[in-house]
Amino acid sequence: MNTRSTPVDRAHADHRVAALLKQAPLEFARAVYGINDLAAGRADTMAAREVARAQRQGMPVTEERAEQRARAYLPTAGQEHCPRCWVVYGQKIPLRFRLSTPERPETAACHACGAEYATAPDA
Ligand SMILES: [Zn+2]
Repeated sequence: MNTRSTPVDRAHADHRVAALLKQAPLEFARAVYGINDLAAGRADTMAAREVARAQRQGMPVTEERAEQRARAYLPTAGQEHCPRCWVVYGQKIPLRFRLSTPERPETAACHACGAEYATAPDA
């Protein structure tokens, strides 16, 4: 269910942006884990695989670069992009929102890296 084209009210959109902004430092921390795991020969962790994938794509991740990008992450309402793809790859990949249902809260998912973020107001 792709709800990107579903208009949401301003408060809801602002909340999504606020929830995603909190993810950028977490993705930076995750990237550092990945860098350290790779350096220590633990290439099979999720974070290490992400960093290795970026390297194979010709965009090696350094701690400095990931930190700069995490600080610069600035999603705009209606054009929210994936925090992980931004911090690790420097790419703006649009997120797709799945509105909340009785079973699960709203999430935003990235088709490129598979990240999924909770963006519900109570998250
Ligand atoms: Zn992504």
